[in-house]
Amino acid sequence: MIKFAKFYITTPIFYVNAEPHIGHAYTAIATDILARWHRLKGEDVLFVTGTDEHGEKIEKAAEAASKTTKEFVDEVSATFKNAWKKLNISNDDFIRTTEERHKKIVKEIIEKVNGNGDIYKGFYEGYYCTGCESFKTETEIVDGKCPDHPNLKLKLLKEETYFFRLSKYQDQLLELYKKNPDFLSPKFRAPEIINRVKEGLKDLSITRQKLEWGIPFPLDESHVTYVWVEALINYISVLGGPNGKLFKKFWPADVHLVGKEINWFHSVIWPAQLMSAGLELPKTVFSHGWWTVEGQKMSKSLGNVIDPVKLAEKYSVDAVRYFLIRETPFGEDGEYSEKKFIERINGELVADLGNLVYRVLSLAEKFDGKIEGKPELESKLDVKKIDKLISEIKLTDALLEIWSFIRATNKYVNENEPWKLKGKELGNVIYNLLETTRVIAILISSYLPETAERISQQLGTKPGTLKDVKFGKFAGKVKKGKYLFTKIE
Ligand SMILES: [Zn+2]
Repeated sequence: MIKFAKFYITTPIFYVNAEPHIGHAYTAIATDILARWHRLKGEDVLFVTGTDEHGEKIEKAAEAASKTTKEFVDEVSATFKNAWKKLNISNDDFIRTTEERHKKIVKEIIEKVNGNGDIYKGFYEGYYCTGCESFKTETEIVDGKCPDHPNLKLKLLKEETYFFRLSKYQDQLLELYKKNPDFLSPKFRAPEIINRVKEGLKDLSITRQKLEWGIPFPLDESHVTYVWVEALINYISVLGGPNGKLFKKFWPADVHLVGKEINWFHSVIWPAQLMSAGLELPKTVFSHGWWTVEGQKMSKSLGNVIDPVKLAEKYSVDAVRYFLIRETPFGEDGEYSEKKFIERINGELVADLGNLVYRVLSLAEKFDGKIEGKPELESKLDVKKIDKLISEIKLTDALLEIWSFIRATNKYVNENEPWKLKGKELGNVIYNLLETTRVIAILISSYLPETAERISQQLGTKPGTLKDVKFGKFAGKVKKGKYLFTKIE
């Protein structure tokens, strides 16, 4: 029996205080591309996403919407689930923190951490931001406000709370970052985390008293478990906990893909929790940047929140997927504008890919000779390089590499002028173009799954895996279809 490598990848679970915007879609799409690529390589992939449904902010949002909290989280969670379906996100599971399977494992993990002597009772006093669901340290507060939520008033809270001995893990965390340089990815985000950990870690308050909507703290039910502490455990509860079958097969996670605003929780608190519970650590936490819209931060009050589903309905799912990954080097901050979006569609999806496929299929359909010849385009493709870039989560660079192959193929058409050729010579050029198009469909399938499928259908070939990315005999039955993308005026 062949044993395939396993690959476990997650998005963060999304907070259901509001419906998904392109920032959420960006994380989901990038994670999906990685999952699909690893499947293409024949690996055993588990891709999980879900929703984070507890905390004061959600209680408030439900109240504002005149709904019970349960109704509210059910509705918003469903909008995420539906959005991912529309955007062709191929997740294997979708976990919600209000599910019993999650609560059960939260209890198990907290008991393990407690068994290790890492939980104690005390008092906490500090400024609490309900937007972040966390207390803010003095260095984080700017002009008496949380910089991420300047419209919300910070609350001075003093309450009995249980603490997690985060401070105990300072050295072990620094050791982890040193020994596993890929743990904090991309590299340019590592110094911020490392310096903050070096400054010293305070123990973390992990329970709240004045809160209804949450998981009762397993050690004292008059407290509710702090939302962040239990939410992170989803990555394990979805596997059935430390004794689950899936856990044995898939843990540790290969990649936790997150937005930079939650890097701290994933790169510091989560590994410390796991160390305390005696569990293996994830291999990589990759935190990507933020999207601004026409130069401004996306926000409800500015009314500039971009709905990824509406955008996909207006243009196409693959146009959205393409733009988000292509526009800005993956990891860095990006700027959305409709003008840029349309430029990418017209200049790249229509002019490079769409035209190529249409030209190739038109030539092949008209030709009645033998489609055979010598591979002349294979040398323009470096699939090992693409694979390496994707392994390093350089999703934009890998896409550019695929695109340079598409452009090289367009150049090949122009240079060979097949419209002037006949017979064997023409058969050879068509052979090369069909094999190239077939290979391109495989290569883009992680990024643009729907487009890849349409190309395969027109070529009359099976979709294929990474093993099929080599030139052989073209065996498809060609049937030209509609243009893959239409130009936007
Ligand atoms: Zn805040």
